Amino acid sequence: MYSFAGPAEVNGKYQKIRDLLQPVLIVIFLLVPWIKINDKPVLLLDFFNRHFVILGHSFFSHDAPLLFFLVILLILLIFIVTAVFGRLWCGWSCPQTVFLHSVYNKIEKLIMGAYSKRRVLYMSEDNPAKKIKISFLYAVFILVSWILAHSFAAYFLGSDKVTSYIDEGPAQHLQAFTVLMLITSVLFFNFTFFRENLCLYICPYGRFQNALIDRNTLVVFFDKIRGEPRGKFSGNDLEKGDCVSCNRCVTVCPVKIDVRNGFQQECIACGKCIDACNDVMSKVKRQPFLIRYETGNQKKITLKRFRLALYAGLILIFSVALGLSIANRTQIDLMVTRASLSPFGVRINKGQKIIQNQLQIHLKNQTENSTEVTIDLSEQNKKDGLRLITSVHQFRMNPEQDLKAPAFVEIDELALLNKKQKIEIVLSTDQTQIFRTIDFIGVE
Ligand code: SF4
Ligand code: SF4
Repeated sequence: MYSFAGPAEVNGKYQKIRDLLQPVLIVIFLLVPWIKINDKPVLLLDFFNRHFVILGHSFFSHDAPLLFFLVILLILLIFIVTAVFGRLWCGWSCPQTVFLHSVYNKIEKLIMGAYSKRRVLYMSEDNPAKKIKISFLYAVFILVSWILAHSFAAYFLGSDKVTSYIDEGPAQHLQAFTVLMLITSVLFFNFTFFRENLCLYICPYGRFQNALIDRNTLVVFFDKIRGEPRGKFSGNDLEKGDCVSCNRCVTVCPVKIDVRNGFQQECIACGKCIDACNDVMSKVKRQPFLIRYETGNQKKITLKRFRLALYAGLILIFSVALGLSIANRTQIDLMVTRASLSPFGVRINKGQKIIQNQLQIHLKNQTENSTEVTIDLSEQNKKDGLRLITSVHQFRMNPEQDLKAPAFVEIDELALLNKKQKIEIVLSTDQTQIFRTIDFIGVE
C-alpha cells in the first residue's frame, strides 16, 4: 500500500477563492514566528520556559489568569463563529487543510498526475517506474515537511533558537535536531497517509461542533427537493430531479462523504462539492447551486438567536475580566517563599539569641524596560525589630529578568517574645509598591 489518490481536482468559483486565499495563509502561517515587533516575535508559545509572546508583548507563568481569560475568549469566539458559519474555518483556513490542499495535494498532482491518472497508478501492480515515482513523491514530501518543521518549531522555541540551530549545525544541537526530525516525521506521516483522518478522529473542534450548531447555522446543503429523484442523465429527464448521479461531489470530497445524504459531522465545509456540481450542472444545462452553502432551515442567516446572545454575553464578561487583568498587571512580579525545610534557625550574637527565618525572594520583571528596584521590610516590621539580610536590597532589573535570591529575616529573641509576628516584604519601583506577607516562625 503506498497512498490514496486523495480527492479529485475541482475548478469553480470557490476553488478560485481558495487559490487566492490559501497561499496568503501559507505565507502567514510560515512567517508569523519569524516576524518581530520591538525585537520580539509576533507569536511565541514557549511552554518549556513558560514564556509567551503575543504581538510583541511578553507573558509569563505568573500571568496565568490573563492567559486563561485570553484562551476562554478565543474559545468563545470559535463558538460564535461556528454557530453562525459552521465549519468554514476547517474547510478554508485551518493550517491542516491549507497545507494539505494547497501544498501536498498540489505537489502530488504535479508528480503523480491528475486524480484519474494517479488513481490508476496507485491501484496498478507494483513495478520499478511506479516505485521510483512514489519514492520521488515521498522525498519531496519529506523535504517540504522538513521546511515546515522549522516554522512549527519556531512557534514553540522561538525563531532565534531555531536560527542558531541551523547556523551551528546538528552536531552542536543533537537534541534539537532529533526534535526537528521527529516533527518532520509527524508532518510527513500526517500529510502523506493520515490526511483528513486528523479532522475526523483527532481534532477536538470537529468532535464538539455538533453541540455548537443548530438549524440556523450555515452548512453545505444538497437541495433534495430539486435534486431527487436522481438518475443518470439521458437528455430527456422530465420525471427526474436535477442530480444526474455522476458522483463528482463524492470524488472531490476530501473526507469522502456523500453530501446528498444530508448534513454529516465529517463535512469540513470546503465547498469543493459545490464547485464540482456547478460544473456538472452547467454541462447538463441546469441551474447551478444544487449543492450550496445554506442554513439548515433554508432561511437567511439571523443573528437573533439565544445561543449567540449567550456567547456574546460571555465574550463581554471575559473581555472585561481580561481588561481588568491587564490593568492590574504589575510591572514586577514578586514571590516570597520559605526557603529552608527547618522552620527557623537560632544564632547567638554577644550572648544574645537571634531567631532567623530563611526565605527565597523571586522577582520577575514583566516589562520590556529596565527598572530600579528596592526591597525592604515594612516600616512596622522595622519598628518591631525585624531585620532583612539579602543581596538584593537595591539594584537595577533588566527587561524580563528573572531573579531568585536568598534572604534572611531575623529578630532578637527578646523583641519577639509573646508576639505573633508577620514578615512584610515591600518592593518599590519608581511607579509602584508591592507588598508580600509571610508568617515569621519562631514563637512557641
Ligand atoms: S455532483 Fe451534483 S449531479 Fe453529480 S452526483 Fe453530486 S449532486 Fe448529483
Ligand atoms: S461534503 Fe462537500 S463541503 Fe463537505 S467536506 Fe465534502 S466536499 Fe467539502
